[in-house]
Amino acid sequence: MTHKKLVVLDIDETLVHTTNNPLLEIKVNSGMCPITECYDFTFMIDKHRYWGKKRPHFDTFIKYIHTNFEIGIWSAGSEDYVVNVLMNTFPNDILQDILFVYTFASCQILQIESEMYIIKDLNRLWGLGNVIDEFRPYNNTNTIVVDDNPYTYSQNKDNAIGVNAWRFTMENALLDYDLLRVQSIISHIKNSNDVKEHLNK
Ligand SMILES: [Mg+2]
Repeated sequence: MTHKKLVVLDIDETLVHTTNNPLLEIKVNSGMCPITECYDFTFMIDKHRYWGKKRPHFDTFIKYIHTNFEIGIWSAGSEDYVVNVLMNTFPNDILQDILFVYTFASCQILQIESEMYIIKDLNRLWGLGNVIDEFRPYNNTNTIVVDDNPYTYSQNKDNAIGVNAWRFTMENALLDYDLLRVQSIISHIKNSNDVKEHLNK
């Protein structure tokens, strides 16, 4: 019996863009859109308000992944933040099927000279003693990570699909098709024996 492969999704600038400083107005289709109509969701954490926008084709992408794969979330955000974003963006039927949510606490920090890099080492998912689902063991043949920050998957390049960082404040923010590009790549490796043979090419 073959099990669904696992797709590990980053949140910020991969699936959504959030900000504490929203634009008062933003240019959409040559018109000006007031803030409340421009963003998809808003929430508060510790007296700080966040505004968020789903990346174009978010709903199509998430639905496709949910139908064909297991979903894991790995964000470098805090748990409060990640939960708020997920609750505001994922449909309930998909939310309840998410296999795990990893946050900043599961990241490693790599310091090179004065620069700090966040690493999301998939070996943490695959390692003994950290079994996400004992009936569906995940390893480097059946796990795909999607992230806009190449440093995060520098330990796992053969399992990664990089995306362009997406921010709603960019002028062409709504003309973005990167999630559909990722969906196309993923659809071709859905049934492969080893995802590594197809990625990092
Ligand atoms: Mg990111």
